[in-house]
Amino acid sequence: MTERFGFTLKATDGKARTGVIHTPRGEIRTPAFMPVGTAATVKAMLPGSVRETGADILLGNTYHLMLRPGAERIARLGGLHRFMNWERPILTDSGGFQVMSLASLRKLTEEGVRFSSHIDGSKHMLSPERSMEIQKLLGSDIVMCFDECPALPATDEVVAKSMRLSMRWAQRSRDAFGDRPGHALFGIMQGGVTRDLREESAKALVEIGFDGYAVGGLAVGEGQEAMFDVLDYAPGFLPEDKPRYLMGVGKPDDIVGAVERGIDMMDCVLPSRSGRTGQAWTRRGQVNLRNARHQDDPRPLDEDCTCPACRGYSRAYLHHVLRAQEIIASMLLTWHNLHYYQELMQGLRDAIAEGRLAAFVAGFHAQRAGGDIGPL
Ligand SMILES: [Zn+2]
Repeated sequence: MTERFGFTLKATDGKARTGVIHTPRGEIRTPAFMPVGTAATVKAMLPGSVRETGADILLGNTYHLMLRPGAERIARLGGLHRFMNWERPILTDSGGFQVMSLASLRKLTEEGVRFSSHIDGSKHMLSPERSMEIQKLLGSDIVMCFDECPALPATDEVVAKSMRLSMRWAQRSRDAFGDRPGHALFGIMQGGVTRDLREESAKALVEIGFDGYAVGGLAVGEGQEAMFDVLDYAPGFLPEDKPRYLMGVGKPDDIVGAVERGIDMMDCVLPSRSGRTGQAWTRRGQVNLRNARHQDDPRPLDEDCTCPACRGYSRAYLHHVLRAQEIIASMLLTWHNLHYYQELMQGLRDAIAEGRLAAFVAGFHAQRAGGDIGPL
């Protein structure tokens, strides 16, 4: 245990990295996948179960928590960790991305964003200063700068203007965050899919100085190829001795490609959200358990998986509880998907540490190409 936030890079393989982020609430092994606990819960999972899948850190959403139940209320109740019964590290986003995608009647100015709640229409303001205050009230271990993220495709002019606003907000976030030992503030690189803008953004952030750096503004509809093009150069603009976080990514093959390009942390709602709709992610690819071909299948979802859904239940049972809309369907499939994601991260960490990432990635793609376990 440490009282300060820090990052130790342990090994590299090509551009890929493995290491440990140290926080007073425990270590985060990297590359790390962070399950999303939007409303102070990873839906359908108890916190202890999320930990059992191998997660070292969760993500919470500032926008949702400030509206319901309110950041001041969570602070009065002892902070987000105690409130949701998760004692390990929590990263919170700044609310910037979600206010632009979810809130109504938004008004964006130099000061920040005024908006109406999507829940009850109540009026609110988010600014760099208010976002820092909310994330402090929540007790977040890793705090994100307040930024703005334009939807792609957008012209270079729009992307540049937005990025420069985000850089001014990054300075204001840094000033408002102050000195909080044991807590980290991450800057967010913007600049869309334009190399010069990405470089300008990275330089501005490094000049201000942060405990870690996120690559923002990707996974917003540009497609995997365009995202990988940016990741081919963007991580290289960031300091080697600080963690690099790719926000909102992704599918298993996005994660593998991002790790190959030097990313240390990722988050995505995909494994939990798709679990609730009957989509399972396995080493052999995606399986839709709602499909009628599973209704008489006595085999587990993945014969090699050690999660409770695969150890105790057949595909036929998972299909049945999904069709019957039983709550256990969401519980079992979320557990399986999070387990699969964390096992993938462990595989990546081990492969990088042992200098055999290329072989691991080749095996990953070959298994998926082989298809689902096939007919009975
Ligand atoms: Zn499983």
